[in-house]
Amino acid sequence: MKIYLATGNEHKKREMQRIFSDFEIVIPKDEGIDFDPEETGNSFFENSLIKAKSLFDIVNAPVIADDSGLCVDALGGEPGVYTSRYAGKDAMHGRSDGKKISQAEQNRLLLEQVNETHSEGDARSCHYVCSLTCYVGKDRFFNAQETMEGFLIDNIEDAAGCGGFGYDPIVIIKSYGKTVAELTDEQKDEISHRGKAARALYSVVKAQLYGEKK
Ligand code: IMP
Repeated sequence: MKIYLATGNEHKKREMQRIFSDFEIVIPKDEGIDFDPEETGNSFFENSLIKAKSLFDIVNAPVIADDSGLCVDALGGEPGVYTSRYAGKDAMHGRSDGKKISQAEQNRLLLEQVNETHSEGDARSCHYVCSLTCYVGKDRFFNAQETMEGFLIDNIEDAAGCGGFGYDPIVIIKSYGKTVAELTDEQKDEISHRGKAARALYSVVKAQLYGEKK
């Protein structure tokens, strides 16, 4: 069974594919579909619904969309829905020219900004959010939204691990004493915002679309 995932992010595709293991996850670029909707929502949920509906309008088949990000307590929950566009303290919601900076730069600038707030110890708390929406028809959709709690490392020199993606090398999970990027795929899936939301959505999709109880 094929199901579309409204993203251009291969890492998100791989993480979703691990949970939706009996589905074939297809992203727009796999089929040469040009897909870059404007994320105008004020919440992860609104943006995941916008992305899901816009791809559904193109493919006319069930679509899952992921909107995710990192909320840093010392920054009042920012960058939040602007995480992918974050470009430092003077461009929290993205650069004026619309260009994105590299992930390595984002990680460096985020730690620099948090360190300027003098946040230490528990004050360095943050959480990831993942909102997944499965859009199956006009006015019919299912959503699951989950979080993963962590802490920002002290300095960019302490960034560690090559698993995961994005901000994972700078987010520590205290119960493991490791960054998210140092976890195995299985460990990340077990506790991550995306892993938990995907498992919840998987059960709903199987039950609602394919009549299977899990
Ligand atoms: P989106 O593609 O607009 O949903 O943006 C997601 C942003 O949040 C990207 O900048 C990612 O780097 C970041 N992000 C989302 N999920 C994760 C994750 O599991 N690990 C690390 N970064 C993530």
